[in-house]
Amino acid sequence: MLRLTDTRTRQLADIVPATPGVLTVYACGPTVYRFGHVGNVRTYLLSDLIYRVAERHGLRMRLVQNITDVGHLQDEVADAGEDKMAAAARREGRSAFDLAHFYEDAFHRDLAALNVRPAQAYPRASECIELMLALIERLVALGHAYPAPDGSVFFDARSFPSYGALSGNRLDQLRAGSGHAGEGLDANRYKRFHADWALWKGAGPATAMVWDSPWGPGFPGWHVECSAMSLRFLGEVFDIHTGGIDLRFPHHEDERAQSNAAVGHEVVRYWVHGEHLLNEGRKMAKSTGNVVLVSDLVAAGHDPLALRLFFLSGRYRQQLNLTADALTAADRTLTRWRTKVAEWAESPSAPMAMAYVERVVAAFDDDLDTPTALVALRELERDQAVPPGAKFETFAHLDALFGLDVARDVGRQRPAVVLPAGAAGLLDARAAARSAKEWAESDRLRDALAAVGVAVTDTREGQTWSLAAPAAR
Ligand code: AMP
Ligand code: ZN
Repeated sequence: MLRLTDTRTRQLADIVPATPGVLTVYACGPTVYRFGHVGNVRTYLLSDLIYRVAERHGLRMRLVQNITDVGHLQDEVADAGEDKMAAAARREGRSAFDLAHFYEDAFHRDLAALNVRPAQAYPRASECIELMLALIERLVALGHAYPAPDGSVFFDARSFPSYGALSGNRLDQLRAGSGHAGEGLDANRYKRFHADWALWKGAGPATAMVWDSPWGPGFPGWHVECSAMSLRFLGEVFDIHTGGIDLRFPHHEDERAQSNAAVGHEVVRYWVHGEHLLNEGRKMAKSTGNVVLVSDLVAAGHDPLALRLFFLSGRYRQQLNLTADALTAADRTLTRWRTKVAEWAESPSAPMAMAYVERVVAAFDDDLDTPTALVALRELERDQAVPPGAKFETFAHLDALFGLDVARDVGRQRPAVVLPAGAAGLLDARAAARSAKEWAESDRLRDALAAVGVAVTDTREGQTWSLAAPAAR
């Protein structure tokens, strides 16, 4: 059974689906006004790992991931609350629609390159405006939200007593301006309380990405999108909500307040947050100026699945520091595993090494302890007691969890290795000497082979050889 750390209770939780046989998961998705960086991808991998473990346990997955193509208010207050999509479209000189589709495609390409399984639904915010309006109207009718003279609608934070349960930010401790930045200079003028936030933002002078509403033209606040979509696509109770740790506040705190206030009970059973990817010690972020894209790594000659392997080397709830050395090491490991798996595949088939399978599955179950799972895999690689055919079966089987395509090179023609002149004869002579137990002759022939650049190793199955690195002159 999978156990995960639940942010709300701050405890390990046994993940038992509310509906037997189906795990329902909502993953906060990308904001598509720019390329996602590999830090974003680390967070998207979190729901993929949950997906793979759920399948391992015979559960059907229902994963929904939103595409934010509207409603992500500017962080910079100076922009007076202009929608980020609209601002980016203006900057790039194309329509917000084109811009969103371009970056959305790039998002799907990145996920595919990292073997992240597609969600069952990718609702777009721009196509769910009606849902959001219906939710906001409901919150107003229930007394949890109020309209303002500028056409905005605010959530009344004080109407939701358990506000702060996720982040620990209690209303009486929140100071003005903390967290809910980006609602424009005017916003605070109309708020009844400084911790209230905009569910709907009056358009003001903006004309792009603006919709009609009962309160006049405007656009939705970012947090309302995830409430409206998750309630609509997963129902009034669903199992897991994921996202990066930065979303815990205010995004998820506000989302929880909106959803729970609308239906009158706890909607999300478990909140799971992934820690940040750092680049040379600092959080990877556009604003820090240290973003790396999947396409950058591919252009530098890395296999995108080496990035996946690197991510697996850290547990999701710990920070992970991206370095060139770590990526290069991951590339090397991946290549070695693929080569070995292809070699092992040529040995007679043998049953899987179940002790290793159980160790790996137990590590994934234990709050996605992927570093421990990788330790088991490395031990299996080296374990002399496990025959090559069994190693092949086990690696190939466990790849359903790791997602590294380790069996990719099986059956592929390996480049022919040409023996130096005379070496074939020496190898035959040595094999004959060994079967005749002429050990001195066998050693002499090994030296003779080494002199022409062929390294011989003796195994239980007989001698094998490889081309030695050219000796330094
Ligand atoms: P955004 O497109 O900015 O809304 O971010 C998409 C997802 O990536 C969110 O779940 C964020 O929490 C997550 N995220 C942003 N920066 C990082 C980072 N450096 N490391 C890991 N996850 C991140
Ligand atoms: Zn969200």
